[in-house]
This record gives sequence, C-alpha cells and structure tokens, in this order.
Amino acid sequence: MTTDIRPKNIDWENLDFSYIKTDYRFISKFKEGKWDEGELTTDNQLHISEGSTALHYGQQCFEGMKAYRTKDGSINLFRPYENARRMKNSCDRLLMAPYPEDKFVEAVKKVVRANEEWVPPYGTGASLYLRPFMIGVGDNVGIKAADEYIFSIFATPVGSYFKGGMKPSNFLVSTYDRAAPRGTGAAKVGGNYAASLLPGKEAKGRSFSDAVYLDPETHTKIEEVGAANFFGITKDDVFVTPKSPSILPSITKYSLLWLAENRLNLKTYEGDVFVKDIDQFKEAGACGTAAVIAPIGGLQVDEAFHVFYSETEVGPVTKRLYNELTGIQFGEIEGPEGWIEKV
Ligand SMILES: *Cc1c(COP(=O)(O)O)cnc(C)c1O
Repeated sequence: MTTDIRPKNIDWENLDFSYIKTDYRFISKFKEGKWDEGELTTDNQLHISEGSTALHYGQQCFEGMKAYRTKDGSINLFRPYENARRMKNSCDRLLMAPYPEDKFVEAVKKVVRANEEWVPPYGTGASLYLRPFMIGVGDNVGIKAADEYIFSIFATPVGSYFKGGMKPSNFLVSTYDRAAPRGTGAAKVGGNYAASLLPGKEAKGRSFSDAVYLDPETHTKIEEVGAANFFGITKDDVFVTPKSPSILPSITKYSLLWLAENRLNLKTYEGDVFVKDIDQFKEAGACGTAAVIAPIGGLQVDEAFHVFYSETEVGPVTKRLYNELTGIQFGEIEGPEGWIEKV
C-alpha cells in the first residue's frame, strides 16, 4: 500500500518527514563489472534475490539531500557533488561498486525534473527530499561482497523540520555506542542506524529528543547527536565541532563551519570536545540535512542536566547560522562558489 496523494492536494506547510510516493525514481544496475545506463521508472517496488548481501550482511549505503524551490521558480541543489563523493567513500568502506560521481549528480537532476510538480513552492519551508541508496544484490549466502548492485534515487516532499520556527530541545548522553572506534562510523550505512534505534528509543522514552553519542574508545568526548553532527559556540565566540574517525562527516556541519568563519567572523575549531568541558559553550546545536540545525536546549549527562543558551529560546549565533545557510539553499543569499547547483 502506498499513500495516494497528488501534489495539488498537499498542505505543503504541514508536511512532515514521511514517505509519499512520487511519480519517478532512478534505478541503475551493476552486473558483470559495470553499471548500466540507468532509467527512470514509476515502479517503487524492488524485486531482489533472497540471497542479497544487503539483506543479511548490511551491505548497503545511502545519502540524504534536498531540492529547494527558489523565489524565481527555479530549483537548487545544495553541494550535490559532496554527497556523490561521500557515497563513493561509503561504497569503498563496504566493498561496493562506486557509482560515478558526475552520473550521480546527473541522476539526481533527472529525478527532480521528472518529479518537478512535487518540489514544494517557495516560501513554505518545505523541500523535495532525495534519497540515493545502494544495495548489494544477487544469489549469495557466504560472507563476501556481492557481484551485483542496485543504485536508486527516490524523492519525497518533506516539510520544514520546525513548524512555526526553530525550537530548542533536550538530549541525553547515551551509554551505548553507534559505531566502533575503527568501524563504519564515517560511512553512511544502515548498520549504524540499526545500532542507534534502541538508544534513540530509550532517550525518547525519557522525554529527550534523541541520544548523544560519545567517542566509542574513551567515552569522554561528544561525537554525534542522534543522526546529526554536534557544534557548540563558546563564550568567546568560537565555533567548535568534534573531529573523530567514527563521526559521519556532515555536509551541513562543514558548511556551517565555513559560514561561521567567513560570514560571521567567528573563530573555528575542529577537535576534541570533552563532555566535562560543556560549560564552555553558550550555545549548542545538532546539524544535518533534515533539520539544518536543531538547537540543543539542555544535555543530560549521567545525573547532571546542563542548559546551554536556554531550554525555550534559540541563541543568536545559532539563529544567524541557520538564516545564512537556509538563505543560501533557497537562493535568497549568494553562497560561496559551487555550493548551488541548478537543476
Ligand atoms: C547523514 C548524517 C549526518 C548529517 O549529514 P548531512 O550531510 O549534513 O546531512 C550526520 N550524522 C549521521 C550519522 C548521518 O548519517
């Protein structure tokens, strides 16, 4: 069963983050050592062998990106070559056949154009979410890399993460790890997400937004906030974000880091962020494509609850970073060279 909604019936302002079947998706197959041309299809079901490595051994990876409608009606992609490159890195880590980076961006554009009427109107805060993914397929059962792969991209319209403006929420430092020290934390793979479902559920069960993960080796440093990266603004205006081989390199985070330095004239630092030093921060946030920034109101660390800027108000630096980045994405503010790719 799929939801049968047509674009003209959508209440764009109140869309949430759930699957809506759009008209076309791109699909390409890797067989006998090469990728085929790929095609757009209206079929949203995959028919794969029960022996597929994606089903048993987690040999799969994905990306998440958005297409934004601008004021003049054109459509923007935000740094899509970064997603293409990151997916190649994920493929390399899991011994999957990488999809050529230029073809990746071409295929993303094809999917957006084919689903043009699903790209939400400018001014609604909504966008067209794009989900490129790759799975290992074929008749396998032994533990080894598959010989065949499917690469696909589907699109679904999503609303602005915050209806009626950004709001802070509280997070819980988890006692679980989402990735191992030299594991797959830096690859965007489903296995990391499967590992995060239970800690996420436990955090939500205690009325927190999500779990914060510490470095899996020493459990003393902040790494990720749910499926988003962490940043903090120190009392003397330094944009700080953790660096570690088990963090997934967020394109949003590196964009904010650049904007902090070059547009807000803040100092920046990428390195260790010890939990014991969190009171150096006057603001903190989680960042990623879905929410752009989710401000962190407070953080529960064992028995202690630490409030950053406020549990109800968003800090001024966080607000400026958010406005700058979303302004660039929706074409209201000129971005650095190469950040916007027109569809
Ligand atoms: C995708 C992802 C992010 C955010 O990356 P963006 O490129 O900013 O969307 C952060 N952490 C994890 C674990 C992720 O999978």
